[in-house]
Amino acid sequence: MSMPRRSRGLKKTLKQRDTTVTTNDQPPHFPDIGDLVARVRFSLEEGHIWLDDQRMLLMHSSALGVFRRELIEGLGEETARGLITRIGYNSGTRDAEMVRKLNRDQESIEGIYIGAQLHMLEGAVKVQPVAAEIDVGRGHFYGEFLWIGSAEGEEHVKLYGIGSEPACWMQIGYASGFASAFMGRPVLFRETECCAQGAAHCHIVGKPVDDWDDADHELRFLQADTLTSGLSISRTSSSFLADSTTTTNAQRLLNSRDVVGASAGFNAVCHMVRRVADTNTTVLFLGESGVGKEVLARSLHQISPRSAGPFVAINCAAIPDTLIESELFGVEKGAFTGAIQSRQGRFERASGGTLFLDEIGILSYTAQGKLLRALQEHVIERVGDSKERKIDVRVVAATNLDLRAEVKAGRFREDLFFRLNVFPIRVPPLRERREDIPIFMNYFLRKFNAQKNRSASGFTTRAVDAMLSYQWPGNIRELENFIERGVILAPENGAIDTIHLFSGGERIEGRPLSLKSDGSLATDGAMPTSESDQKSALDNFVRLKLSNLSDSVDYKSCKVIFDDIEDALVSQAVEKCGGNLSAAARLLGVSRPKLEYHFKKEKFLRSG
Ligand SMILES: [Zn+2]
Repeated sequence: MSMPRRSRGLKKTLKQRDTTVTTNDQPPHFPDIGDLVARVRFSLEEGHIWLDDQRMLLMHSSALGVFRRELIEGLGEETARGLITRIGYNSGTRDAEMVRKLNRDQESIEGIYIGAQLHMLEGAVKVQPVAAEIDVGRGHFYGEFLWIGSAEGEEHVKLYGIGSEPACWMQIGYASGFASAFMGRPVLFRETECCAQGAAHCHIVGKPVDDWDDADHELRFLQADTLTSGLSISRTSSSFLADSTTTTNAQRLLNSRDVVGASAGFNAVCHMVRRVADTNTTVLFLGESGVGKEVLARSLHQISPRSAGPFVAINCAAIPDTLIESELFGVEKGAFTGAIQSRQGRFERASGGTLFLDEIGILSYTAQGKLLRALQEHVIERVGDSKERKIDVRVVAATNLDLRAEVKAGRFREDLFFRLNVFPIRVPPLRERREDIPIFMNYFLRKFNAQKNRSASGFTTRAVDAMLSYQWPGNIRELENFIERGVILAPENGAIDTIHLFSGGERIEGRPLSLKSDGSLATDGAMPTSESDQKSALDNFVRLKLSNLSDSVDYKSCKVIFDDIEDALVSQAVEKCGGNLSAAARLLGVSRPKLEYHFKKEKFLRSG
């Protein structure tokens, strides 16, 4: 049995901001997470367990073991490991979101330790830090931890005995997900030793994906079920994390804007696309603007038997009503003024390949009729021509409209709707797949750094925070635009900050912050609305203040008295309002008599 490699020749240092603390053999202090523990609520009547706003499950560890075995034996170890790792990744991302929401100090390594503690709170494993460094702005991360008594490892050993591979898949996914969401760039944790291999404890190391030079093996388990399975590993891993190292890869990625993502929602989409690709079935992509429907349609074409044929895309909304028919079906010489020569439409040009019709919902009624005929009978007629032309085209359509509602309103033909709706695929908006945001951030950062010959180092904590909190009404396209702007505006070799990303006016919802035009986060205009929200924000504020006090104040030598705090608050408010008591009372949110009472009491105490 090998000993855990505790330090592995590394100097055990804990870098907090600019100070480097040597820990010797003392494990570092974990921050107080009393506020997080207080957020675990058991609601027996409802049958709910909550960790903050996330519903949780209290599950038997042994049941998880059985579930793992079913997956391994039913799907094979590779697939099972991927699924389980990504479940963990999802959990880690959710927890990082919660930590961010609680407004903990995100510049320091403390946030990562909070993640470790949440992992402990959730019963996965005892975590002991060995070394950790973090610099969000520079994109630097290094984390080394010991895992003692891993639940997952124990269950694996129970069923399979000691083996040659690490087995804490869900947990390694959790660590990677938490750190990635925390850093705003993909971080990969690796288990260098595992109790399932006979080690006394598991030992994990985490670094940004770009800093690993042999990460392909693990990336396979983290990556979404990309459309490229079956191609080489380097191809698939680069499509997931945009971690291309060779120029050709980079070039191809920059050109093709490959599909990236790791979330469950995105996985489901990829699965459906792969299942339908080798058929000739008409596919309908549904989803908001900017979710990447065209990229998916293109990928579907590339993995279909028609990949050698052309991929022709047309955005129906971008072409005037009067021209759409001739664009789609072609035009015969003399059909109308200006038609001085015959030309092919998109259908004919897509012959033998795939035709992608974006924003199909706004197609005119006549064009809808012709499209229906093309789909049903595989023939088209050019405008101004009565000759039928046979076509061999697979149609993939997309819309952000509710087509059923359009049918009801009489704007869309019902028969065409049924013809198109054979295989609908809903692409979730970015706000429903937040775990993909760090991946996109990194992807577009690299893309625009290369394209614009810039060297932005990464994102500031504030920027990561804003990106992850933002609602993304424009989805991936909006995120791409933000990062393009960020890369241009960021200082050379510096980090992209909120001021570089947000042009102003965008609101970060779901938290008591809004963006001002200078890029700073402000609480005005977006204060918590409900009373309970206000109370919890205040609770957090007080907790933070108290924890700061408890770090710096020795209670025995310096008594902090409640009344002193009240006095300080009142006198500062009165000073700020130039001695106007009514204004000071308003500022403090108390009545004027109450403020007067405070002064009387103070006077009494002083004279007494
Ligand atoms: Zn392990």
